[in-house]
Amino acid sequence: MTAWTISDIRRLDATDPLANRRALFSLPDDLIYLDGNSLGAQPLNVPSAVATITTEWREELIGGWRDFGWFDLPDTVANQISKIIGAETGEVVVCDTVTTNLFKALSAAIQLRPDRAVVLAEEAAFPTDVYVARSVANLFGKELRLVPIGADVADHLDESVGVALLSHVDFRTAQRLDLPSVTSQVHAVGSLALWDLSHSAGVMPVGLGDSGVDFAVGCTYKYLNGGPGAPAYVFASKEHLDSTLQPIHGWMGHSEPFLMTDEYEPAPGARRFVTGTQPIISMRVLGAALDAYDGVDLVAVREKSKSLTGLFIDLVDQQCAGLGVTLLSPRDSALRGSQVSLHHPEAVPIYERLVEAGVRGDYRTPDILRFGFAPLYVSHMDVWNAVARVRSVLAHWNS
Ligand SMILES: *Cc1c(COP(=O)(O)O)cnc(C)c1O
Repeated sequence: MTAWTISDIRRLDATDPLANRRALFSLPDDLIYLDGNSLGAQPLNVPSAVATITTEWREELIGGWRDFGWFDLPDTVANQISKIIGAETGEVVVCDTVTTNLFKALSAAIQLRPDRAVVLAEEAAFPTDVYVARSVANLFGKELRLVPIGADVADHLDESVGVALLSHVDFRTAQRLDLPSVTSQVHAVGSLALWDLSHSAGVMPVGLGDSGVDFAVGCTYKYLNGGPGAPAYVFASKEHLDSTLQPIHGWMGHSEPFLMTDEYEPAPGARRFVTGTQPIISMRVLGAALDAYDGVDLVAVREKSKSLTGLFIDLVDQQCAGLGVTLLSPRDSALRGSQVSLHHPEAVPIYERLVEAGVRGDYRTPDILRFGFAPLYVSHMDVWNAVARVRSVLAHWNS
């Protein structure tokens, strides 16, 4: 283990190719923000995007749908996300919530494997994912099979599985699955892979197209900085799009919404996943926020993410030994997302003390402290200072 010194930290920041991105964000000076995995920071261009859309609305009224491209926003904002997740134009649409998109994508996938009896999901998954998997499995008369916590997905796959719903990065522990190889395992038994990218998109290359992923969903208010309640996205591979029918047939996903016909005719491409009228103000905010990714090399983002989380782990090992925390996240950076979780029996009051000390991570009850590292705006010096404060809070707690 490296015995880090402050000059090492300065050197890491001085050679960081993403260091200039921090200036695109508005963050309180006295705060070390390590919760970008729950709610991303506000990009500086957001207030003017809000001002623009409110002016459009005031001045153009209904004309804004056509004149200002409101109608097309689910597709135009999706084009920004496609680049981040490695999809092609037309395979992604921005709409609704992750929960709703999971419902639609899972239902669509099940209908492509009608003879398969099992829906596979993970016991460790984010609760909404498990709730939706159970509800959709029930609706379609399928059996829900949950991969137990800590078990290998491959050991629970067989030819009865129609679709596997998987988290690229686990929200509790930051455990990261190897998306290409797990997708191949899913395909090897003839199943379809539906990935939840909520904790990976924006902090690593995802490469959906290269891996042959069938469906995916993800959140935009975490690392993608879209703001509270920003609309989610859904991906369907071009291979499936024309044969895919999601179950919520809405007029905004119709090929000709303004003809107001009796018959539902799905729009081409992923647009068919749109249900009703979308939150245009939030869409505009999201579109502006995603500009922070313009020209960003996601390989460099991943490298910085590993560097930040690895440094945090090393410093906690060195400075917080014997103070009651243990590491829950993988030590191997290849198996880790952009978050580090620590176990402490009194995580909640410790979290509160940390907030008072100017370090904003979060907790998951009862005993997990989570620290998220958004590579676009967190520096190595932030990590250094954060661990000093964690050490001080823990030392006081124990004394
Ligand atoms: C954040 C998150 C969600 C959020 O779902 P919403 O319906 O948008 O509230 C869902 N799944 C995962 C894995 C998440 O991390």
